[in-house]
Amino acid sequence: MPSFLVHALIPTFAMLSVRRYFDPRIVLYLWPLTLLPDLDYFGANGTWWVHRATLHSLLSVALVVGLVWLAARRWAAPGAAPQYAAVALVYHGSHILMDTFAGGNVFFWPFFNQTFLYWFYIEVDTATNTPIVTSEPATHEGAPVVSTTYEWLSPAETAMMAFLLVFWAVLVTLSLAERYRDRRENGGRNRQNATPAGGAARPPPKPSKDQPVAPFPEEGTFK
Ligand SMILES: [Zn+2]
Repeated sequence: MPSFLVHALIPTFAMLSVRRYFDPRIVLYLWPLTLLPDLDYFGANGTWWVHRATLHSLLSVALVVGLVWLAARRWAAPGAAPQYAAVALVYHGSHILMDTFAGGNVFFWPFFNQTFLYWFYIEVDTATNTPIVTSEPATHEGAPVVSTTYEWLSPAETAMMAFLLVFWAVLVTLSLAERYRDRRENGGRNRQNATPAGGAARPPPKPSKDQPVAPFPEEGTFK
């Protein structure tokens, strides 16, 4: 299985590099979703709660994206739900895509108990400088077998995780505080516009240059 760092950082950096489609604030808010699938490791009971199956299935992707979309429609800014759903899809989808090449997933859980796995890696014979390519499907019946001892977090990764979590919490707090302040200021401005004292309503404020994102394109413009 890829290290938690791979799951946590690769999709995050990928989305932050395409700001036209992904609002960095949403990429930040939903960041814990990068690790959500691995919660099925804890307390796995072998029947309905199975590691690499329950939260690593295509059904779980659909459910998580759907729930995020519904929650965003209820609580996020108007029109932002598709952006939230897209970020959730990249986070959850990238996790199981990566696991496909490192241990495998039961994609069609709970309908078919079949692990889909593909091994592809390249080693180099240093004596002859020859690359040795391993490329073979290893799809098999049942869920992936988890080894008896497994270092889910190494001490070095714990150190990095500690930094990332603090960094994430601080950024989320700052972003939410900024939104709260903007909302209060805009609310006050709107009230003034609604009841102008003998003059025309004040024009709406111009968007500032350092506004983080361009508006999300209309649905269906993904390439
Ligand atoms: Zn996983």
